[in-house]
Amino acid sequence: MSKIIVPSQEGGLLGRRGFLGHCLRGLGVVGLSGLTGLLVRGSEAGSTVWQIDPERCIGCGNCAKNCVLKPSAVKCVHEYKMCGYCELCFGYLADVRPGDTPGAGNERCPTGAISRSFVEQPYYQYTIDEQKCYGCGQCVKGCKAFGNNSLILQVRHDRCVNCNECAIARQCPAQAFVRVPAGRPYLLRTQNE
Ligand code: SF4
Ligand code: SF4
Ligand code: SF4
Repeated sequence: MSKIIVPSQEGGLLGRRGFLGHCLRGLGVVGLSGLTGLLVRGSEAGSTVWQIDPERCIGCGNCAKNCVLKPSAVKCVHEYKMCGYCELCFGYLADVRPGDTPGAGNERCPTGAISRSFVEQPYYQYTIDEQKCYGCGQCVKGCKAFGNNSLILQVRHDRCVNCNECAIARQCPAQAFVRVPAGRPYLLRTQNE
């Protein structure tokens, strides 16, 4: 088995958003570094694995329903380098009315997997609890519609068993479920920055 290490995204946030730098440094920001060190299971060098193209994915929900694993091998990850740290984050909030606040039953995630913490006015940081996420795509849809698509779905290769005939690929309405080289198993738009 080849061991694939995903580049850590940690620290990118501090570089891109220098104006928040000092403030964020104390928050223990982990970004996508949770992916660091995860192995690609059952794949040989030169082989391919399934992944989601975040440019095409529309967060339809089929990834949560069609994976052979329960919960799905697909989970939300947050590309912090792209995030606007919006006070009104519509990946987090279900509504788009100005003045909406969290804690009033208007959070978008059905499992409460997204939490937010105050950075400095008017910026908030959003964190995904991966244990609670089952890849439903609701937050992805909200962020894509009203934000900058920094919340994306990815196949987690520490979970995926790389089925030859992945049912998600057959059900995806956006041709977003694709084969990628096992040596580069994640499609993060910020991974080359
Ligand atoms: S290849 Fe199999 S385990 Fe991986 S996402 Fe598709 S159905 Fe789930
Ligand atoms: S809304 Fe769905 S995809 Fe987003 S964090 Fe919650 S469970 Fe995961
Ligand atoms: S089935 Fe396709 S469009 Fe739907 S959430 Fe999965 S990757 Fe995105």
